[in-house]
Amino acid sequence: MATIEMKNIVKKYGDGFPAVNDVSIDVADGEFLILVGPSGCGKSTLLRMIVGLEDISGGDMVIGGKRVNDLAPRDRNLSMVFQNYALYPHLSVYENIAFPLRLQKRPEKEIDEKVREASKTLDLDEHLERKPANLSGGQRQRVAMGRAIVREADAFLFDEPLSNLDAKLRGQMRTEIARLQKKLGITTVYVTHDQTEAMTLGDRVAVMKRGILQQLATPRELYEQPVNLFVAGFIGSPPMNFLPATVENGQVTLPFGTFPLPAAKAERTQGKGLLMAGIRPEHFEDVSVIGADEVDSARTFEATIDVREWLGDQQYAYVPYEAEPQVQDQLRELAREADGDSLRTQLVVSLDAASKGEDGEHTTLFIDTDRMHLFDPATGENLT
Ligand code: ATP
Repeated sequence: MATIEMKNIVKKYGDGFPAVNDVSIDVADGEFLILVGPSGCGKSTLLRMIVGLEDISGGDMVIGGKRVNDLAPRDRNLSMVFQNYALYPHLSVYENIAFPLRLQKRPEKEIDEKVREASKTLDLDEHLERKPANLSGGQRQRVAMGRAIVREADAFLFDEPLSNLDAKLRGQMRTEIARLQKKLGITTVYVTHDQTEAMTLGDRVAVMKRGILQQLATPRELYEQPVNLFVAGFIGSPPMNFLPATVENGQVTLPFGTFPLPAAKAERTQGKGLLMAGIRPEHFEDVSVIGADEVDSARTFEATIDVREWLGDQQYAYVPYEAEPQVQDQLRELAREADGDSLRTQLVVSLDAASKGEDGEHTTLFIDTDRMHLFDPATGENLT
């Protein structure tokens, strides 16, 4: 059983702010877990503590039921695939894959069988005599994985393995890694700063910020029920819109209108003063496309779209809005908290490709307040 249990893990470098701060995550046998977060959030440090490349300052690391805090990396039976693949340039594909078995002084026959089996799984059997320099980025990636496979490691650990590849190959390799992981059923922990990778690959995703685990959930839960502003802003593309809001009498007031809210959401947020509303671009519709009869007219508003970006099957439309200066300051602070430093006094809405209109014309939009979140502006907590 290759479970990985991280129990209250802490990493301190010197006496500064902990790079990893009391993180507890249980990875199930065969699970694909993603560690995601912006640069410096501590995800690589956490991964390196699993492998044993970094000392643990506090807490327990338990792999397959055994505490490994003081075990050397080579005694943990884990396999790490790095960003640069760490292949030996002078060795053939065959010898690169065989390398860990040669280190273990396994018999020649066993080595040959394992290398051939792994290269078949990875579709590398045609390239066994080539050197890494004569392979594509994707093939090199597979050689690195082949080396991990032949070792029969208890778990795979990936540190941003796709960040050196171009966008197209990254997409292909993503699918390939997902397929292989399912096929092999090996417990996997995968570090990335890319939320698309996180959402598409992971059985579960751990979102980190400044060393602290923000939320550990399935991709769907992260998308539908983010626990705070940070997670809400980090997951989703284009990012969630954040708007100043107040809730009274079951209605939410935004800078461009007042709309009915579902009762449960209203109850939890009523009379709490200025809040931060969050709504994703895809939770708006162009009423002329879906038909006025199909929507609750109380949840529509006239938008002045100033730019439309056409993407083929859909379009992103931008709707500037006015906010009072004091609200703008707060928005700026919260937007920074959520996704870097994007201050937006414009809505980004994702509309059907059939939506039409000259720039600057009014378009009637539907806002799906069922899918709206309301956050406490002081703590960032999702109140809905
Ligand atoms: P990135 O995506 O940029 O690699 P990350 O989320 O993986 O970022 P870590 O590399 O884990 O982040 O770093 C977490 C924090 O620990 C950062 O603030 C970093 O500066 C600090 N840190 C990492 N390694 C060391 C070190 N050897 N000595 C001191 N501080 C370090």
